[in-house]
Order: sequence, then structure tokens, then C-alpha cells
Amino acid sequence: MTATKLFPVVCAGCPCLCDDIGIAVQDGHIVAETNACQRGAAFLAGLRQGPIRSWIQGKEVPVEVALQAAAVRLAAAVMPGILGLSESSLEAITAAVALVKTLHGIIAPWPSDPTRTWGQQAPDLARSWAEIKTCDLLLCWRADPLRVQPRLLDRLTVRGSRPRLVVVTDGRQDNLTAAIADHVLRFPDTEDLSVLRNLRFHVEKQGPLQGPAAALAQRLFAAQRCHIFLGKETATEEVVTDQCHLLAAHLLKKVRISISPLAESVHVRGVTEALTWLTSFPGPVSFALGEPQYRPGVWEAERLLTHGLVDVALCLGPCPAGKCVRICMDRQEHPEAEIAFHVPGLSPLLDAHVMRPDGIMLRLAGIEVAAPDPVVGLLQQLQWAVQEIGS
Ligand code: SF4
Repeated sequence: MTATKLFPVVCAGCPCLCDDIGIAVQDGHIVAETNACQRGAAFLAGLRQGPIRSWIQGKEVPVEVALQAAAVRLAAAVMPGILGLSESSLEAITAAVALVKTLHGIIAPWPSDPTRTWGQQAPDLARSWAEIKTCDLLLCWRADPLRVQPRLLDRLTVRGSRPRLVVVTDGRQDNLTAAIADHVLRFPDTEDLSVLRNLRFHVEKQGPLQGPAAALAQRLFAAQRCHIFLGKETATEEVVTDQCHLLAAHLLKKVRISISPLAESVHVRGVTEALTWLTSFPGPVSFALGEPQYRPGVWEAERLLTHGLVDVALCLGPCPAGKCVRICMDRQEHPEAEIAFHVPGLSPLLDAHVMRPDGIMLRLAGIEVAAPDPVVGLLQQLQWAVQEIGS
């Protein structure tokens, strides 16, 4: 490719997955971009370009050699796991499910989508962007959309106006969203539980409101529909999310509240949906007995690794730390892995698809001819090699 004209692509630098980005390509490399935000420009500039490279124990080897070694490791594993997927294309997720079936292993996305387990407790959870737009209050609870999803607030703006914005922060860390918020509540995260309990006690028994709970109540009770974005740490604090859900349930007749984590990874919702189509279950699934089995909470990626439940992990993209043998396929280099493949990631030069959090499927490359996702080819070759070893 020698042309330098701009062609339209999707940026996979954050879950916004902006599809109004232009890139110029010269000799197969991205040489310029237009319309990306700062984070997107850094993402596009940092993408791996060029052929796949591979290493065994830190020594660079031909890809075929690394693939054969990976197949031997996976075929010999007692319980192999395929983990990660949050930066994988839908095509790669499909190939990963086919491989894990052959391996009789476990597939576990990471980071996991907490709304999957919350769904058992509260019915009104992750509203789509279209629904959040209709809210009159957006509460960012230790979440910073301007930092992790820079264009999310633009998407929630209708005819120049967006929901009122209240940010809860401890004030110690820079919260970019706080600078444009209508109101900022500053208190340490150690008070989250007591503030939420105070608010709920007030709603249930007309108990007195104190400090931040009083300020929060004032904003919340003036709203009709509120969406709460929980920051990364808060979203995994079960006691805090439970209190949010209880509050939402008690306020049902006064304020309609929905809650979702503010994802930082591209595909947290997309992986949940793709796994549901492919395995019938929305999270970690084991094929150890042939038929898919689903045990939420037990087969989460972190638990599998910390409890030694998988002995060989094939990590597709970012994965939690663990002590088992790791085979990595990622846009980042992994010198610590036993076997590593350096791949392009969700590059706009690929003819592959991703899913936005509102369920819209997007092709990474625009109208230009593009290459298939090489991770798909690697996973298929691994599957064939494992089948050959087993035959
Ligand atoms: S908002 Fe996200 S998807 Fe859009 S250009 Fe910025 S990093 Fe890329």
C-alpha cells in the first residue's frame, strides 16, 4: 500500500470505539490520523505494526516453532485456560472458544463484567447510551469518564445539553471530569459505605442525613432518572455495589436509578455478549467435561490463577498475574511469559469486528481493503496442532 489518502476507521483506544477517525497509511503503516482524542492518538501511535514476532523463554524464535511449543504445552496441561479477551476481535473470541472446546479447558474473560453477577440482584442495571441520555442526573462515583472514555459525555449530549453531572471523588487524585461537573462531592472512599447507608436509612426510616449524604440526597431527590457510573475499584466492592442496588430498589418510586461500571477495557461488555452467543453463558465457561458449564464467581480469571485451578494459561491481551505457565498473545511484549506472540492488537488496519457497549458491532477498518486478524490464524493453527498431538 503506498497511498496516503485518509480512510475511515474505528479507534479501539477505549470503549467509546469512535468510528469517525481517519488514518493515512503508507507501506502498511499508519502515518497520520485525524479526529482522535489525545488518548486515541497515543493508542494508534503505539500499535504494533509489522509481522508477528514470537519468543520462547525470552529468545526470539520463528512463529511456527513457538506455535508448536505452545500446542505441546496446552495439550499436556491438566486444566488449560484461555483468559483475557478484552482486547480481542469478535473473530478472535470465536476462534478462542473453538480452541478451548478442543482443549477441554476453561475460558474466562478478564476484566470480568460485574453487571453479569449483579443481574441476579437488581433488574435495572446497565442502560444503553440511548437510555442514559434520557437521565437528568449522571453520578460518577469515583469514576472519571473524561480520562478513561474521553468522548462518552459527548455521546450523552442531546441538542447541546447533557445530564447534570455529579462527581464523587476523594480529591487526592486528579479527576478530569470533576473540572466540568455541576457538583463535586469530596470524601475518602473509606466513607462510601457509611454515606450510602446513611442515605438508605433516611429513605427507609426518615433518619437524619449527615455530611456528604445530605449533599448527595439533595441532588438525587431532585432527579427523576439517574445513572450511576462506578469507578474500577468501586465496581468490584461487593458491599458498596449492594448498597447502591438497595438504594435503587428503595427509591424506585421517586428516582429511577440504574448502575454500571465505567469500563476501561475495550470489550468488557462485548466479550460477555459474544461468549453468550457462542457458549450460551455470559462469563467463564468450562469445557472440561465436553459440555459447557458455567460457575460465576468460581471460574473468574483471578481466582483460576491465584488458586492454581489452571496450570497453563493462554492469555489473549491483558490478563491478571498468576504463577502458572503463561502463553501470551498481546500487543504488549511479555518477556516474563514462557511463550509470547507479539500481535497487532485491535488495529484499524484489520478486517475484524468489535462490539460497542450499546451492542453495536463495528468493523475496525473502514472502506479500505484490510488484512484479517492474525490472532485468528494463530488460534486456528494451535487448534489443529493440538488435535494432531491428540490423534
Ligand atoms: S474517545 Fe476513545 S475511542 Fe474515541 S478517539 Fe478517544 S480513545 Fe479512541
